[in-house]
Amino acid sequence: MNKTTGKVTGIVSNLVTVEVDGPVAQNEICFIDVDGTDLMAEVIKVNGNTAAVQVFESTRGLKNGNKVVFENKMLEVTLGPGLLSSCYDGLQNNLTTMDGVFLKRGEYTDPLDREKLWDFTPIAKAGDKVVAADWLGEVKEGWLPHKIMVPFSFKGEYTVKSVKAAGQYKVDDTIAVLTDAEGNDVNVTMTQKWPVKVAIKGYKEKPRPNRIMETGVRVIDTLDPIAEGGTGFIPGPFGCGKTVLQHAIAKQGDAQVIVMAACGERANEVVEIFTEFPELIDPHTGRHLMERTTIICNTSNMPVAAREASVYTAMTICEYYRAMGMKVLLLADSTSRWAQALREMSNRMEELPGADAFPVDLSAIISNFYARAGMVVLNNGQTGSVTFIGTVSPAGGNLKEPVTESTKKAARCFYALEQKRADQKRYPAVNPIDSYSKYLEYPEIQEYLDKAVTPGWGEKVGQLKNIIRKGREANEQINILGDDGVPMGYHEIFWKSELIDYVILQQDAFDAIDALCPIERQKYMVELVLGICGRSFEFDDFEQCRGFFKEMINILRQMNYSEFHSEQFENYEKQLNTLLNNGK
Ligand code: ADP
Ligand code: MG
Repeated sequence: MNKTTGKVTGIVSNLVTVEVDGPVAQNEICFIDVDGTDLMAEVIKVNGNTAAVQVFESTRGLKNGNKVVFENKMLEVTLGPGLLSSCYDGLQNNLTTMDGVFLKRGEYTDPLDREKLWDFTPIAKAGDKVVAADWLGEVKEGWLPHKIMVPFSFKGEYTVKSVKAAGQYKVDDTIAVLTDAEGNDVNVTMTQKWPVKVAIKGYKEKPRPNRIMETGVRVIDTLDPIAEGGTGFIPGPFGCGKTVLQHAIAKQGDAQVIVMAACGERANEVVEIFTEFPELIDPHTGRHLMERTTIICNTSNMPVAAREASVYTAMTICEYYRAMGMKVLLLADSTSRWAQALREMSNRMEELPGADAFPVDLSAIISNFYARAGMVVLNNGQTGSVTFIGTVSPAGGNLKEPVTESTKKAARCFYALEQKRADQKRYPAVNPIDSYSKYLEYPEIQEYLDKAVTPGWGEKVGQLKNIIRKGREANEQINILGDDGVPMGYHEIFWKSELIDYVILQQDAFDAIDALCPIERQKYMVELVLGICGRSFEFDDFEQCRGFFKEMINILRQMNYSEFHSEQFENYEKQLNTLLNNGK
């Protein structure tokens, strides 16, 4: 088929209008020739024989009359073994194989190593009937079984003609031959392509999430847990701990594959990901976390279209691993940069602006993206999941701005980071009152928690939140009326809430032991703390109350820093009991 061509007729920064000589489609990819360098661009609007295209790179030197060739396909991601431990930009240029972070203009690199040999084991056999996404075989990628699947683009049923015997193959080698309904043979290799803006289907159903993804972070797991296949977001002003919290979740989250989409504010933040992430050790296996991670990086000095593409590239890679039956965790930091890219594009198109000049359909775009997460039941009955947690960096910490509001509609967990808590070094600075998890309302999640943690767990957590709320109110009264102006009970409830704050809410992400708190340990500490909060102490004065709780907080924090049930841990427990018996 002949490719449609065209020539440039107008340039506004990265937005270029092209007069075309044939059909072009929305989101189609094209290349613009600038003095021998081909710049990649995406069609964002078609109007008669003119197309508006968004160039993924600097348009320096671009002139009216430059030639454009349309590729008759959308922006695609290359899928296959080798994605893990790789670092890409939004167009899947491999950044690990380069010296610096930035490619030369017009340079596109291969996302996969074409020469590497992979240990292949067949799963399907001749005569099997298969459809798109069915498993044909597997290779070991790191220590994960990477399934080689019937390409997602295949329609209808195929019969397996042959599958290669176990052995070593390259990604482009044919590992299976399938016969379609008309009797035509098609070769299947270990790699396939998929358009990033289209969700990968190839599963039987997408039920509501019904279990929790443990993160080892107490404010999340205990107070507002996120479901496996669930969605959540972390809004917070600069420096409040969004990135630290996401990295903690990446390290400890109960997921097999991690995809980090870093839409950085500044180049140095992204370089940090490059240098820090490969150093992280997976506390579950003791191996490098990077072995089961893919990083998609973009900085805000990269053109907007490339930034916009990055979150879609990341999501598509997640869906690919989900189709293998894996638990995948997608972290995007920060989705505000993505929304800003959308805004820049829409403004250049001179579209009618919505709130704060964001596109009118911002909410729909964000919701559609979050909707791609989820738990799925594959054709073979196994399950896979993509859990998605994004950060939002609202300007000035204003949670009423459009990106936060739109994301609130789309995500089911909300972890609001608070400037005040961050200033007090109460990390993670998640506000326990404003934050929520809508999964707690699901009966199947309540049932799950009753079984996985302990019967009546939801009620205990409710008590915890209640004390925090009452403590805040008491604190306000104390601040207004003074220490002596309120009844003793106010001091007591305030200090009980401080006990919960210091022992349950706060967690040191940089302490080897405290950083990771498994759910049994969370349960133990919650019950211990609630046991103390359930007592009524008859203090003589508020100073006695303060002294008593400070000592108790000290002991319980030491427990958090000690190996669970170790001799040291039990010693602190003894100290605590002595205090409780002698104190009051
Ligand atoms: P943001 O991404 O919101 O701009 P960061 O995640 O970079 O903020 O956090 C800023 C700083 O706050 C970190 O460098 C660290 O010193 C501190 N911090 C954040 N969370 C924690 C935590 N859980 N434990 C200890 N320190 C933390
Ligand atoms: Mg950050």
